Amino acid sequence: AYLRQLHSAETQLQCFLAVDDEYALRQAALIDSRLAQGEDVGPLAGVPIAVKDNLCTQGLQTTAGSRGLHGFVPTYDATAVARLRAAGAVVLGKTNMDEFGMGSSCENSGYQPTFNPWDTKHVPGGSSGGSAAAVAAKQCIAALGSDTGGSIRQPASFCGVVGVKPTYGRVSRNGLVAYASSLDCVGPIAQSVADAAAVLTVIAGSDLADATCSQKPVEDYTAGLLPLDNLSSKPLAFKRLALIQEACGEGVDAGVTAALAGAVRHLQELGAEVEQVSLPSFAAGLPAYYVIALSEASSNLSRYDGVRFGQRGAANELKNMYASSRHSGLGSEVARRILMGTYALSAGYYDAYYKRAQQVRTLVRREMNMALGRFDALLCPAAPTTAYRVGEKLCDPLSMYKGDLMTVNLNLAGLPAVCLPCGFSGQAAGNALPVGMQLIGRAFGEADLLKLAHIYE
Ligand code: GLN
Repeated sequence: AYLRQLHSAETQLQCFLAVDDEYALRQAALIDSRLAQGEDVGPLAGVPIAVKDNLCTQGLQTTAGSRGLHGFVPTYDATAVARLRAAGAVVLGKTNMDEFGMGSSCENSGYQPTFNPWDTKHVPGGSSGGSAAAVAAKQCIAALGSDTGGSIRQPASFCGVVGVKPTYGRVSRNGLVAYASSLDCVGPIAQSVADAAAVLTVIAGSDLADATCSQKPVEDYTAGLLPLDNLSSKPLAFKRLALIQEACGEGVDAGVTAALAGAVRHLQELGAEVEQVSLPSFAAGLPAYYVIALSEASSNLSRYDGVRFGQRGAANELKNMYASSRHSGLGSEVARRILMGTYALSAGYYDAYYKRAQQVRTLVRREMNMALGRFDALLCPAAPTTAYRVGEKLCDPLSMYKGDLMTVNLNLAGLPAVCLPCGFSGQAAGNALPVGMQLIGRAFGEADLLKLAHIYE
C-alpha cells in the first residue's frame, strides 16, 4: 500500500532518487513469514521507511544528491540503516536532498527539485527535503534525515511533520556521507513524536565504527512517553521553558510569530511556565556556522577525485582527471562552498576566520548550556518563514543562508531538539502553510524532550 502511494504521489512531488520495489516487497514478505512462524522480528517489523540519499545502503545507489556520485552503489549499510533493517523495518528507497546536504530548499540537488506536498509551488525545505516531503505525503511512515545546521528540523517545519535532531554522538555517523564532521547528526523524521521516538530508540547508541559516537546507554524513548488518555489536566506543571528572545524579533514572519505565540499559550494551559531568555551570541552563530561547516566540507569533499567513487571525468593525465571529475561532478553551490572553506583555512586567514568562528562556537555553547541549567527546554521557531516559493531564493545564496538562523546554534553546541508542527500561517489569504516549533533540550536529554513534545502534540 505504501509503495502504491509512493508512486502515485511521486509524479507530483519527486521525493525519491531511487526506489527498489522488488527488494522492499521481498523484505516485507520475509518478515511476514518469520512473523507467521512466531519469530520476534523486531520493534519496527514491516514498517516502511525512506532513507536520505547521503546514508549508505548496501546494493542501493547512494549519491548524496550529487552527480559526482552517480552510479555509486555502497557495499555496506550505514549503521543507522543496518539497525533499522535489524529491527524489521523495510527500506523503500532513497530520498532527494541538496547536494551533500548543502542547501535549505532541495533545489541544490544535482538531479531534481522536490515539491512541498502542502503546495507544490513551494519548496519542501532542505537539505532533507525529500525525507520530510515523503513523510508528509504518506509515502512512508518515517524517514531518516541528517542535520548539520538544520536539515532535519527546517524541512520538518516546512512540511508539517516531526523531526528530531539528536545530541551530537547519539547516533552513529558511520556510513553517512560527510558534510561537516563536527556538526553532522543522523535522526528521524516522522508523522508523530511517538513514531520518531520509536525510530530513534532503534538507531541510537554506541558504535565501534564511529569513534565520536557516545557510549552512553540508550533509553527506550517510547517507554517514557505518557499515555495521552490518562493525563492530568496540567501534565507540564513545574516545567520551566524559555523562549529565546533573539529568535523572536526582526526578520521573523508575522504568521510564524503568531503560530508560536499560540504554541506558548497551549504550553501554559498544559501547566508549563514559559519565560524569556536572552542568548546574546545567537546571531553570531550563523556566520560562525558557515565558516566552520564550509571549512570542514572543503576538507571532507577532497575525497571526490574521480578515483574512488562515482563518476570519472575524461582526461589524458592524472591532475586533469581530478579537475575534470570535480568540475563535471560537483554543482555550483558545492564548488562555492569548497572555495570559501579552503579560503577560510588558508595560512594568513586561519586566525581571522576559522579560529574566530571556533571562539564564537564556544560562546554559543556556553550560553545555551547556561540557559539549559535554568530551564527544562528552550523554545524558538524552526525557521523564520514558512516554505517559500520554488526559485524564490535560488539566485540569492546569502538570503538562503539567513534562513538557517534558528537552527545552526544547536549544531554548534551539539544539543538535541525536536521540531514539531505548531499551527499554520497564511490561512486568511487561503494559502495555509505549516509552521514548526523547536524544543531544545540538554545534551543527551532526548527522553525528557520527547516526553515534553509528546504531551504538547
Ligand atoms: N542549510 C544548511 C546548510 O546549507 C544546513 C544543511 C544541513 O543541515 N545539512 O549548510
